[in-house]
Formats: sequence, C-alpha cells, structure tokens
Amino acid sequence: MLGNNPIRRPVFKSGDWLEIKEIYRSIQGEGPNSGCPAVFIRLGGCNLACNFCDTDFEDFSTMSLKEILAEAGDLGNPSLAVITGGEPLRQPIENLCDSLLAAGFRVQIETNGTIFRPLDVRVEIVCSPKNLGKGYFPLRDDLLGRLNALKFLVSAHDPLYAEIPEIGQARYKIPVYVQPMDEFDAAKNQSNLALAAGIARKNGYHLSLQMHKIVGIR
Ligand code: SF4
Repeated sequence: MLGNNPIRRPVFKSGDWLEIKEIYRSIQGEGPNSGCPAVFIRLGGCNLACNFCDTDFEDFSTMSLKEILAEAGDLGNPSLAVITGGEPLRQPIENLCDSLLAAGFRVQIETNGTIFRPLDVRVEIVCSPKNLGKGYFPLRDDLLGRLNALKFLVSAHDPLYAEIPEIGQARYKIPVYVQPMDEFDAAKNQSNLALAAGIARKNGYHLSLQMHKIVGIR
C-alpha cells in the first residue's frame, strides 16, 4: 500500500466474522517457514501505514469463520496456514487459530508486534518490527516471550532501517531473520540485498529473501 492505507483501529469482537482480503494457496517465501507450501489467509486493514509496504490489503470483504475455514480447506489442505495482512492481530483471530489447529494445520502469524492477543501456544508468531521515525515500536514482554522469530527489514537508503536494533531478541533468545527491503527498484534492491547479507553474516542471523517474488508467484 506504500503508506496510502487508512490506519484502522484494533477490533475486539467475538471473531465469528473477520475482514478478509484473500485466501489462496502458495509457498511461504520468507522467514522460518520459507519453502513450505501453505494456505495464506490475508486479513484486511492495518493499524500502521508504512511508506514501503508492499502489500494490498484494503479491498476486503467480511466472511464468517465457517466460510473462511471452508475456503482454506478447499485449497488442498497444505499442513501450514499463514495468517497475514495487513495486521492480522488487529482482528480477533483467536477462534480462527483454534479452528485451524483443530483442523490439523500448523498455524503461523505474521505481525508487526504492536497488538497482542493471547493465542494458543502452538501458534507460531513471526514479528516484523516497524520504525516509523521515533524508533522501533517497543514489543510487550508477553509477546516477546511468545515469538518464534523476529524478521527485520533493512535498507541501504533509509536510515531508519539501516541496522538491526536490540529490542529483546538477546534476552529471549529469539532467532533473527534479516530481509532486504523491496524498494521496487532493481539497483536499490541489489544494495539492500548486499546490506542484509553482510549483516546476517557478521552477526550470525538468518538471511530471508522473498522467495515468492524471485520465482514470480504471489
Ligand atoms: S505493518 Fe506491515 S502490513 Fe501494515 S502498513 Fe506496515 S508493512 Fe504494511
């Protein structure tokens, strides 16, 4: 959305109905489950508006939990369900996670880390912290204690994303993934890749590439 999206507030309702942008089958292209076939459930709306955001999540419709589960199940049932957005924790997804786990899926959330919800301990949470000019949003201790990975974007052209901050990963022994920011410019992306690779090699972090973009799938 490149920062053009409206900032939407968190919703605290039952979770029987959710705002869904799309449900589709693909391959997880980034982070710790990179390479895994997955059903993606993309929720609408975000509580932030990052100027580098590479995702369209505003054209959503309201679906019942039953409809969401039926559509996800119809996609051939890969073992992994990725709940993403926008910001998926903006909406009450506790029941969705429980239902997917009960249906036999592993469940992974992709969050910006600014909203907390008490999810089943089996839900894998990958957090990509954001810095909108006043430093990185601080992450709550109870969220830090639940994270399976921190995924940091880096850019050779944006000083806010030039290096990896310490925001609790050492204290909680959270695996760190470094991902070059996609700036929709081949030359810029090449220098972002070099920066990410250098940071990963120097610090012993994982290098995360957006594999789905490399192979040309969504
Ligand atoms: S938090 Fe993520 S989804 Fe939301 S605007 Fe920023 S990059 Fe886009």
